Amino acid sequence: MNDKLDILIVDDLPDNLRVLSVFLLEANYQVRKAISGEMALKAVKANLPDLILLDINMPDMSGYEVCKKLKEDPDTCDIPVIFLSALNGVVDKVLAFDVGGVDYIQKPFQPQEVLARVKTHLTIHWQKKQLEEQNIFLRNANQELERLAIIDSLTQIANRRRFDQYLEQQWKVCQREQNSLSLIMGDVDFFKKYNDFYGHPEGDQCLAKIAQAMLYIVKRPRDLVARYGGEEFVIILPNTDLDGAIKIAQNICKKVHSLKIAHSGSEISQYVTLSLGVANVIPKQQLVPELLIKAADKALYHAKKIGRNRVCFTRKIMAITKPNDEI
Ligand code: GH3
Ligand code: MG
Ligand code: MG
Repeated sequence: MNDKLDILIVDDLPDNLRVLSVFLLEANYQVRKAISGEMALKAVKANLPDLILLDINMPDMSGYEVCKKLKEDPDTCDIPVIFLSALNGVVDKVLAFDVGGVDYIQKPFQPQEVLARVKTHLTIHWQKKQLEEQNIFLRNANQELERLAIIDSLTQIANRRRFDQYLEQQWKVCQREQNSLSLIMGDVDFFKKYNDFYGHPEGDQCLAKIAQAMLYIVKRPRDLVARYGGEEFVIILPNTDLDGAIKIAQNICKKVHSLKIAHSGSEISQYVTLSLGVANVIPKQQLVPELLIKAADKALYHAKKIGRNRVCFTRKIMAITKPNDEI
């Protein structure tokens, strides 16, 4: 580890620089010298050293000032600074730590002591950097895990787990605000036959295309498109009344039809179609979100029963009204 590490030594006395550099070079460090505070700052800017040995009493700019400047700059604030000084008052030593130094060596120094402290601080610095890198890696990995936990890997839209959480959450918000909450359930028509005819991988691609078509239609930030399971999709539309939700469902129906995904196995169209069920409620204390799901599911079932490729709706929770016309 030693031969690549770069140490900047700063002292206004050339003799001190010479002595320091001799034994640091012998210990296999790369050494750069600066004869003033200003030169030190320039040398640091030109190339960040791994550690700085810094004299305190220098004309023009003191070691304290140099250290303060380094600590103020985000690029240089992490470089460990060891003060080397003839000052031996407690106040001087404490000030060295206050301005950001990691250690203080009394002059006249013993080379063995300087080497031991340099090595210790380089090791601590390296371990700190390792820890920071690991932390960043873990944070990113955690974020990715959180994302994966709520995303459906096939379609890249929200998964069932996310849907359950979000419905619960939006139910509460709409209940508090006494706003309309709508739900659309969609199911691909004759999808088993699609798989049988074109194969499962092609079926997967078809589901991904349908998901994208839904995202294209559903635009409000609080809306959520999710895969409910298999070839079933579900859409949560907060602050949306029944008429608005029916309109969106019809637009999805049209959009999917317009993709013109050939479906030779379908008994109702030459293309892939959807059946959709819509339900709406202003959440109340005595109701639960499952009722909204059941109502949308019932409307969907009805759409299937009366011919597929259409939108049906439930005007009142638990009571299905007459379905609207085929699109
Ligand atoms: P209906 O019009 O009544 O909805 O008929 P259907 O064939 O679509 O319904 P059914 O419930 O009988 O079959 C659903 C099919 O969806 C069966 C299954 O193979 C397929 N399916 C479910 N999940 C996936 C998936 O992730 N990928 C693919 N390719 N197919 C899936
Ligand atoms: Mg189904
Ligand atoms: Mg189906």
